[in-house]
Order: sequence, then C-alpha cells, then structure tokens
Amino acid sequence: MKKVISLVLVFALAFSMVSMSASATVKTECQGDCDTCPAIVVPGIGQSNVWALDKNGDYLLDADGERISAFPAVLNVGSIVLKAIFPVLLTLFFQADIGLSDALCSVLMDAFEVNLCDETTGKNTGNLEVEKYLKSVAECSDYEKEQIYDNIPLIDFAKQAGEDHLYYFAYNSFSNLDNTVAELYDFIQMVLEETGHDKVNIVPISMGGSIADALLEYHPDVMDKLEKVVYIVPALNGSSIVGDLFRKDFAFFDTNFLYNGFLEALMDEEEARMIEVIARIIPDQVLTKALHKVADCLVEDIAANITSLWGLCPKEDYPAASQALLANKPGIKEQTDRFYQAQVDAHANIQTLIDKGVEVYNIVDYDVPLYLIGNSWNNDNADGVIHLSSTAMGVKSALVGETLGDDYVQANTSPNCSDRSHNHLSPDGVVDASTGLLPDHTFYFDGQGHEQTARNDAIIALATRLLATDDIKDVYSVADFPQFSGRRDPRSLNNHYIPEAKAVDTSTLSEEDAKELAEALAEAEAFVANKACYDGQQKEVEDRLIGILVKIGVREAEVPEEPSTFFTNLSLWLFDNYGPNGFSEMPFLTIVNLFKAIGSLFGIK
Ligand SMILES: [Zn+2]
Ligand SMILES: [Zn+2]
Repeated sequence: MKKVISLVLVFALAFSMVSMSASATVKTECQGDCDTCPAIVVPGIGQSNVWALDKNGDYLLDADGERISAFPAVLNVGSIVLKAIFPVLLTLFFQADIGLSDALCSVLMDAFEVNLCDETTGKNTGNLEVEKYLKSVAECSDYEKEQIYDNIPLIDFAKQAGEDHLYYFAYNSFSNLDNTVAELYDFIQMVLEETGHDKVNIVPISMGGSIADALLEYHPDVMDKLEKVVYIVPALNGSSIVGDLFRKDFAFFDTNFLYNGFLEALMDEEEARMIEVIARIIPDQVLTKALHKVADCLVEDIAANITSLWGLCPKEDYPAASQALLANKPGIKEQTDRFYQAQVDAHANIQTLIDKGVEVYNIVDYDVPLYLIGNSWNNDNADGVIHLSSTAMGVKSALVGETLGDDYVQANTSPNCSDRSHNHLSPDGVVDASTGLLPDHTFYFDGQGHEQTARNDAIIALATRLLATDDIKDVYSVADFPQFSGRRDPRSLNNHYIPEAKAVDTSTLSEEDAKELAEALAEAEAFVANKACYDGQQKEVEDRLIGILVKIGVREAEVPEEPSTFFTNLSLWLFDNYGPNGFSEMPFLTIVNLFKAIGSLFGIK
C-alpha cells in the first residue's frame, strides 16, 4: 500500500511539475482562452532590420555613430572612389573600356559583400545580424515596438487583442529561404506555446507571401495550426521584375531606350536628362559593355546565390533562368527547385487551407505600372512592384490604363465564389475578380502603390478587423470594406487641413465662405471616417478644402515652380540627331551644332 501511495505521490508531483512548467511558458493574460488568435506578421522585403557587422562581430557604424543597415547593400564612398577613379579617367581619356567595367563589378561586389551567399550551400557568408523579436510585442522594448509599428502599423489590433497577441517575424530578405522557412515554422510553435492558443493567424506581406508558399508546401502540418491567413500584397508567384532580373531581360540594354526613356520612368525628368547628357562623355558601346558586365556580375555572382530572391522569381521564368544560372550550382538548384514546386502548388495549397476551414483573405493593390526595369513590366496589371496575377492569385485584368472592354463578360472561373450572381467586375472595368482563386475574399485597392500600402488606413483597418474580430466574412460583409476601393493616405488631412479648418473663426467669414468651409470640412471628415473610397477621391476632397482655406487666407496658395527644361531639351536634341552615340563619336560639326542648340535654348539665333 505504501508503495502505491508513494507511486501516486510521485505521479502527482511529476504531473503538477509538468503542468506548472506548461503554464509557466504561457505568457498571455487570456492563458490561451480568448476568441482572438495571436497574429504573426511575416513582413516584406527590407522590413526587418539587418545590421552589418565588422570582422570582430561588432556593429559597423556610420559617421554619426549609427549602425549601418545591410539592406540592400553597404556603400563605402571612399573605397568606391579609390577603386573607380583611375579606370574612369583612363576610360574617359582613351574612350575605351580600360578597366571601367571591372572596377564597377568590384565596387558592386564590395557593396553586396555583407549579403553574399555561398554558391554551394546558399547560406549567408557576410557578417550581419538580423534584429529578431523572439517574443510578443508586449515584451518588446519601446525601440522594438517603434520598429515594428513603423513597418506595419497594426497598433489598433494590439490595442484590441492585446500586445501579447501580436508577433513580428523578422528575417533577412537576402538570405537562405529554407532557413527562413524553418525559422518561421519554429516561430509559430513558439507563439502557440507562449500564448496558450491552439491556433494562430498569419499575415504574409509582399515577400512574406513567397515564404508562406514555402511554409505550406514544406510543413503541411502547419495548416492545422492556422485559424486565418490574411495576405497583404503577397508575392505568391514572385514579381516579374525579379523574373526579368534572373533572365537578364533588362530594358536598359536597348541603347535607344537607355538614352531616351529609361531614367525618366525612375526619376525626375530633368535630372534623368542631365545624366543622359553626361553619359555621352563615353561612347555608347563602352557604356553598354560596362552595363552588361555589371548586370552579369549582379545576376550571376550575387543574386543567383540568394535563394530568398529565387523565391521572388515567377514560376513561368524559373525553368529557363535556373537552367542558365544554376546548372553548375547543384546545391542551390536543389533548394530552388523545391521552392519552384511550392510556387507551382501555391494555389492548390491555399485551396487545401480553405477546404480545412482556414479563413483565407487577400488584400491587393492594382493599376500602378511596374517599375520599368525589365521588359515584362507591362505584361500584366501591377502595384508598382508585383504583377497583379501574382498577388491576386491568378486574377485576369486589363493592363494599367486600359479596361477589359464594354463587352467583357465576367468569367467565373474560380471554384470559391459562393454565388454566381455576384458582380466581381471592378467598377473601373479593369479587374475580373471572379478569375482569382478567392473572388469573395480578395479586396482590391485601385491606384494604390505597393510601397505605400501600410500608409493606406483602410488597408490597415481592414487587416485589423479581419484579425481581431469575426465581423468580416467576405467582401460583402461590411460597407466600409467593399471588394473594390481606392488609394488613400489621410495623414495630411488629419494632421494639417482638417485641424486648420476647424480652428477657423467662422464669424469673420462671409456667409458664402463660411458655408463652403463647413461643407468642405464635412466632406473631408466623412472621407476620413468612411474607409471606402475611389482612387482620386482624396485629391478632390483635399483640393476643395485647401481651396477654401486659401481663399479665406488661412493657407498660402502653392505656386508650382516652373520646371527647368534645359537638359531635357538638350538630351532630346542629342538623341534626335545622334541617337545613343557618345560625344567622341559625333562628327566635328556636332560641337558647332551643340553650341547652336544651347544658344537656341537661350533664344540666341
Ligand atoms: Zn488569447
Ligand atoms: Zn462571388
């Protein structure tokens, strides 16, 4: 009997210790017993702090003593000048590539050294440190909270659900994808343990979408641990910019475009034209040879070894690109081939999630042309960074600036539309949401640029509501969040125009002005309060309010500066007369003509 009692005691003790240690790891106030699952943000490219270290493992510091970010590269101006000065001078003097392209490659390799990956294993070889938050936001320092909320302002979610229900999975954007996916899998297990919840919500954003592709494929067991997935502008099938990068299909290889159009699409026209004029101090063949060599270096020696970047290569581009770049790198190709399969299976895996009862939502932007870097820039609608069929799960749409046409009939190709009488055509005639995988659960924001997504308060409010409540079941649930809405960022209205309008002493105004101010203010406040809008509505509301504020003397009218057109005219004249040729390739008369042209710009005959 004594034996039995002691055995029971031992068991009881052991059991209580186990339960004690189990409850000791649960850190939430709710102890896992509340209606809101913890949310894990899987952010986008460059949305994690990654610090460059020196050889001793200490932070590299800039002149102000601030840590230096490893993303996207570390530029050391001193060493760049040192490496490039003589090749540049020699190339200029002899008008031939005398070490210029080699020097540029060397500079590029230096800048990316911290982000280089081994060509056998695909693991980072540079000295860097990822600033990770292996804890809930509740346990983060004020500095850490600031980093997190600055990237993804889910502060209202944290207020509603508790900061102990919000987690931020930081990772290196230029790194080993397999490692990152394994870390995310472990992170999810940690969140389950710490919160006491048996399920989590995940929020894959942009590049986070490619990591989610891999997570579902490599760790299908995770599907049973997910309550909701809220995708935000996810790169589920990469970005065609990266596809063009890996296929070396750069738009600037066409010299006619390089000297007329390429830079204008990326920066202020007058600055772009100035660079075009200056670039003519070397012959176009020397310049293009250098550009090709730099591109080879960037793609073959840097990008090809970074498997997380392969995660952004669309599946349509992968077979040819991997054949060309990874034939001699089997260690990397094995990893990227595996990811390719994840990308091919992405929609099927999301369908499995849905079939298992996981709620899957998608928030995307459209009608912003892709950055014109590669030649595929206009093959699909886009949000500036990712093409739309990637973010919106295969959706059919018109190109930016076009419509599907008046005769277009909704195609209804998705199995997930609950009612075929739904109208899934965008009011602007650009998107047929019935062709994406999730017609009833994808929210589209017209004219919204990818990089400003987190500044769109409707998108953040929508994500918050999806994560914190069960109010929204689909795009028909809440009037503020319809399927199609528009770009917005009401910070200027909130911080300047509305407070200024409210502070006006209306007793001093004419009846007419007071009426217009009241109406314009009411319209602005309604715009801020109601999250649904159309692209361009914010500008109308702001212009009206600014207009009356200027009229009554509260604001000064903004006088647009007359833009300078000197280099624009000069560069276009050079291009019209000499195509992409450098100055030394032009006939002697050019110099005479050049002076005449410059004279004519100043009105001298
Ligand atoms: Zn809870
Ligand atoms: Zn539907």
